[in-house]
Amino acid sequence: MMPDERSRSAITMKESPPAIFALFGNPVGHSLSPLMHNAAYKKMGINASYCSCCVERPHEAIEKIKKRSIRGASVTIPFKTAVIPYLDEVQDSARTIGAVNTILHDDKGRLRGYNTDWIGIVLGLEESLKIQDKTFAILGAGGAARAVVFGILQKGGTPLILNRTTTRGEEMALEFGCPFHHLSEIEAIRADCLINTTPVGMAPEEGKSPIATEALTNFRWVMDCIYNPLKTRLLQDAEGAGCTTISGVGMFVHQGAEQIKIWTGKEPPRDFMRQVVLERLGAQDGD
Ligand code: NAP
Repeated sequence: MMPDERSRSAITMKESPPAIFALFGNPVGHSLSPLMHNAAYKKMGINASYCSCCVERPHEAIEKIKKRSIRGASVTIPFKTAVIPYLDEVQDSARTIGAVNTILHDDKGRLRGYNTDWIGIVLGLEESLKIQDKTFAILGAGGAARAVVFGILQKGGTPLILNRTTTRGEEMALEFGCPFHHLSEIEAIRADCLINTTPVGMAPEEGKSPIATEALTNFRWVMDCIYNPLKTRLLQDAEGAGCTTISGVGMFVHQGAEQIKIWTGKEPPRDFMRQVVLERLGAQDGD
């Protein structure tokens, strides 16, 4: 499905009743998506409400979307892959990545799945560097890593995968046609940019880094997909090693902004959304 098809299929926003959007996952309490989305709709003058909803199984999310006429849904851990069989249509990029983070409930009652994480990572990265012709060492082989590798390949970059579990990392490397190394080999790896897609650095592993500080001098840029905390232990170590650091906030804002575009057909205020998220994260840091 081409991007322009998304805008053609975009729902028409009515004045009343308010359009309902929701995040489905487990857990969802930590997410800043409701804050960011609701602030964006208010700023855009769209009569809409975005809430988070913790579910046990993917079909519960699907039932709620249909029964409550939810127009658009975000999908997060652990349902991004499990939700796919329940959808009427899945965008090619989401099918290749193997994960859907966005559902559009269209005017005909059909559920259409998209992945905006890969666009989020591309736009987030390209605020700091041009992806084309650069090399990237990716830590992890889960859903976020798949979106990152897909995005880098789309933009002409060269990814390499490092993972704790060999079989998972090797399978993913084979699928995307890129090299694999076990995570323990990190000190022998050189690339322009290192990207962490593991959850090491966020609660309950806040304060930890997925790799030793010594390995960081092999990279000019270091990005963490984690956005809360804003400055993970990895990014603190990378700053100390003289690397340019990139937090996960850009990725988070852009993946959410792309969802809003799919659901409303309108361009959201990305800088404002970033400001709202940064303010909240800054307040938390100070607590
Ligand atoms: P996932 O599918 O569960 O994959 C996690 C990966 O991390 C796996 O490859 C796993 O390795 C590895 N890992 C987990 N714990 C590890 C440890 N202690 N040491 C080394 N490796 C470890 O998770 P995901 O959906 O990809 O999400 C990963 C992270 O990305 C989360 O922190 C999430 O918040 C973040 N994310 C951010 C955004 C954003 O917008 N900024 C968007 C999506 C995701 P094994 O294969 O060995 O288990």
